[in-house]
Amino acid sequence: MSSENFVNLNNLDENIQQLIRECVEARKMSYSPYSKFSVGAALRCNDGTIFRGCNIENSSYPVTLCAERTAVSKAISEGKKNFQAIAVSADLVHDTVSSPCGMCRQFLSEFGNMDVYLTNPTMDRILHTSVMELLPLAFKF
Ligand SMILES: [Zn+2]
Repeated sequence: MSSENFVNLNNLDENIQQLIRECVEARKMSYSPYSKFSVGAALRCNDGTIFRGCNIENSSYPVTLCAERTAVSKAISEGKKNFQAIAVSADLVHDTVSSPCGMCRQFLSEFGNMDVYLTNPTMDRILHTSVMELLPLAFKF
């Protein structure tokens, strides 16, 4: 991820600014008693609907659900399938924004390409990328 993809919140479309604020809010609902690493996501459907998600850990670690998959699962179960963008918020890791895990990249790619905004909770570090940039040559059945 190159540094030229970092963007300023105030320069983004108002809808995307709202999406980013919502992913930061969603993070507050995180259930992460084991890692203490809170993640929030906000998914914007093409019709403007926003679904929030947070990470949900489990004492059996592999059962844990990421914030991105929580948000997408909520949208799909409410009949939405067309997505414009997803914003994800987590603490900075090694001085840069945290990005979706491999499983979430594949999960997101199922629904086509979409913009991805990765931010820290204070929203002063925002990376703009896309699902296809994060997972080129994604598996398709
Ligand atoms: Zn994930």
